[in-house]
Amino acid sequence: MDSSIRSAPVRVLFCLGTRPEMIKVAPLVIRLRELGGVAILVNTGQHADLLTPLFELFQVKADYDLVAMSPGQGLNTLVARIVERLDPVLEKEGPDYVIVQGDTASALGGALAAFNRKIPVGHVEAGLRSGNPLSPFPEEMNRRLVTQMAVLHFAATEYNRASLLKEGIRAETIHVTGNSVVDALQRTLKTTTAGAEIARLRAQVAGRKLVLLTTHRRENFGDAMRTHLRSLRAFAEARPELCIVFPVHPNPNVKEAAEQELAGCDQIMLTAPMGYADFVHLLADAWLIVSDSGGIQEEAASLGKPILVLRENTERPEGVHVGVARLVGEDPGQLKQLLAAAVADEDWFEVAAKAEKVYGDGLTADRISQILMDRHQKCGGLASE
Ligand code: UDP
Repeated sequence: MDSSIRSAPVRVLFCLGTRPEMIKVAPLVIRLRELGGVAILVNTGQHADLLTPLFELFQVKADYDLVAMSPGQGLNTLVARIVERLDPVLEKEGPDYVIVQGDTASALGGALAAFNRKIPVGHVEAGLRSGNPLSPFPEEMNRRLVTQMAVLHFAATEYNRASLLKEGIRAETIHVTGNSVVDALQRTLKTTTAGAEIARLRAQVAGRKLVLLTTHRRENFGDAMRTHLRSLRAFAEARPELCIVFPVHPNPNVKEAAEQELAGCDQIMLTAPMGYADFVHLLADAWLIVSDSGGIQEEAASLGKPILVLRENTERPEGVHVGVARLVGEDPGQLKQLLAAAVADEDWFEVAAKAEKVYGDGLTADRISQILMDRHQKCGGLASE
């Protein structure tokens, strides 16, 4: 190996496009740069509107914007555009590694474009599995395919590591690093204060117990979501000591269901999607969280808050195992019983409060950056597998 390659700083290209990817990748970009590595950030444009405020919050900016979204396009066009538009960037930048996060079209397209150019792929949040290739769709298949292309698997937990080993992934390529969402959460709570929107909501909550709700997953659209919302409304109306705050996702399926099922209930406050800083301050205020989001399951555990997960199954069972999370399961009507049980179950709140390290300790970005730098020092980047 040419020694000039080894002594040059590691060049890492991060390809991302959605809100959760940006939240989880930003700490890596920041830490890698602090350690002297070169981070090149590519935004595919998958969630253009939700990403802009995150760039401001974390004070990182995209070096390239692939503008891969266009109205009404299907998944195939999106993935094809990402691969096609990323390719010249890879050619120009010649990164030592391409890092993708999670299970989105941006992760799949980024990994595929890098693989085709024989650039080593690192997968952050590797080893999550629902066990059903069709659910969540297409995320479960995206993450399985990325695993096949990656040479470095950054697993958040031992459980994720075990899932990868079961699929025949070599142990020496898997690193248990924790989930960088914990880094982002801790950093944001420490470096920001809640904004005017949160002050207004706090005044409205006025000493009542706060239930924070989010729901936006495709699997819940339609009857399941409406059943959940009706159960939550009945729950709030029967208990004047609590109220529900629901930042409503911009997807029309969610907006319509929220407006129709929850209108006219003054214990339920509907808001626009929140900036990340405001949202995590509100999470920290919550008594109970109800959500179908993946990232929020991790954030709830990190904050020691009990969470009811609006899903049939979860690829993050660690929270269920330690008792911070409870799954609603196949029957959406089950939410009603779970809400009623929560009120009477003080033990649950005590158990949840001890769950904070389930998904990470806030040092994930440092671990991943060190691994990339060490590996680069030892064997350079290209064709090292
Ligand atoms: N989030 C946010 N504002 C909101 C709702 C959620 O910033 O109004 C954050 C939340 O803290 C979490 C992330 O968005 O880190 C989760 O994103 P999403 O639910 O879209 O995706 P998932 O985690 O299910 O992949």
